[in-house]
Amino acid sequence: MSKETIESSAAAIAGRVGARELSAAEVTEAALGRIAASDDAVGAYLTVLGDGAREHALRVDARIAGGESLPLAGVPLAVKDNMCLTGTRTTCGSKILENWIAPYTATAVQRLLDAGCVPVGKTNMDEFAMGSSCENSALGVTRNPYDLSRVPGGSSGGSAAAVAAFEAAIGTGSDTGGSIREPGAFCNAIGFKPTYGRISRYGLIAFASSLDQIGPLTRTVEDAALAYDAMAGFDPMDATSVDRPVETAATHLRRDLKGVRIGIAREFDTAKLGAESHACYARAYRDLEALGAELVEISLPTADYGLATYYLIAPAECSSNLARFDGVRYGLRVEGDDVQAMYEATRAAGFGAEVKRRILIGTYALSSGYYDAYYVRAQKARTLIAADFAKAFETCDLIASPAASSPAFEFNAKSDPYSMYLMDYYTIPFSLAGLPALSVPCGWVTPEGGSSPMPMGLQLAAPLFEERALLGAAHAYEVATSHATRHRPRLAEVAK
Ligand code: GLN
Repeated sequence: MSKETIESSAAAIAGRVGARELSAAEVTEAALGRIAASDDAVGAYLTVLGDGAREHALRVDARIAGGESLPLAGVPLAVKDNMCLTGTRTTCGSKILENWIAPYTATAVQRLLDAGCVPVGKTNMDEFAMGSSCENSALGVTRNPYDLSRVPGGSSGGSAAAVAAFEAAIGTGSDTGGSIREPGAFCNAIGFKPTYGRISRYGLIAFASSLDQIGPLTRTVEDAALAYDAMAGFDPMDATSVDRPVETAATHLRRDLKGVRIGIAREFDTAKLGAESHACYARAYRDLEALGAELVEISLPTADYGLATYYLIAPAECSSNLARFDGVRYGLRVEGDDVQAMYEATRAAGFGAEVKRRILIGTYALSSGYYDAYYVRAQKARTLIAADFAKAFETCDLIASPAASSPAFEFNAKSDPYSMYLMDYYTIPFSLAGLPALSVPCGWVTPEGGSSPMPMGLQLAAPLFEERALLGAAHAYEVATSHATRHRPRLAEVAK
């Protein structure tokens, strides 16, 4: 199979497999070949499903031979390692789950398989999805395919890198405060987080349950729409899944932005991002206008409280969610003299520094005497942030902003936790409000001291449940600007 085919979109691959020009088995072989050639350098995968993937592919080919029409026939799928896939290791990037085998499949993943995807592997991530660079993974290093000395972003960095390196056409990610959008921006991919509740979280190992949302990482907006159409919709297995009809997005992609009002928040001053990034976003906004959009100034006065609010609510929920990892039922157990000693030894050995930091902050914020001062106040701030967005959307249809605070940075560049937290400054407020938002490539900037142009991401966000309008507009921007195809990952030499 040609290099062009494995590098083409999920839509193109599915079209050819559906038309029986290619078999899912052939596509899978090509994807596994690409992984073998480049993943030693990239490190996107924690587990590669060789024969498991081949078996899935044969089942897809049998379904096609039986006359089924599958929207994602034979599409190589990378699954973030916090999502269950029956019989495969699901580690969350943590030593505590290093050898845990999932006994069932997450609903979102199952729906992609039902649509014809072939899972080729499980991807690296920041431990329990806490981080913005994948450097918090306890199990491996993932590198940015556009510059191997830089991080791929996080926490869904493995899926973003896999898609960017053509080692899969669709990657699943989870986004709590930015973990799909930021690695999407860093790796020249579309990173799409739907409305909270749109896609079932059943089988997604929880970080912060009131924020966690699954979504796709892809190389085109159309592919993101196809993956979303497959995954979205009510699931009785997730109590927060929303029972409301899903409008197909892939059939409503637009070519212009006529009649669309796009809000630019006064508070999101891109000048502080440096001259090159500032110019990049200024041009992106002008390009939106050139496509027919009307740019309107909006105000999000409480957005600045997003980070502080998030870093109380997310740790509070994680301290509760991660209490189950104690050596009794799941994963690692380190024996001790009594059960308390066993808990302590297991958690001390199993969790990394960032996870422990979050558990400590969260436990403190929820403790008696501090609960009102921290957790309750954070919930109130969250309500105000959501109200700001509701007000802004009275005067605009979409909001545009940077997706991340900088292009991809070098390993070990963020020496303190706070500078890492700042990467999600632009994405977190939207997460707190539950809004659908995505990152779409919007240009290239060569960072100071860097040798390669690195991709930049534009964040577009919509009111609750307006995924169709969001993806439609993002497609118009993507097609008109075609930033994503301007540079190739610097892996050509590896992946010949
Ligand atoms: N980087 C943020 C954090 O560390 C967001 C992570 C995420 O969205 N899962 O919490």
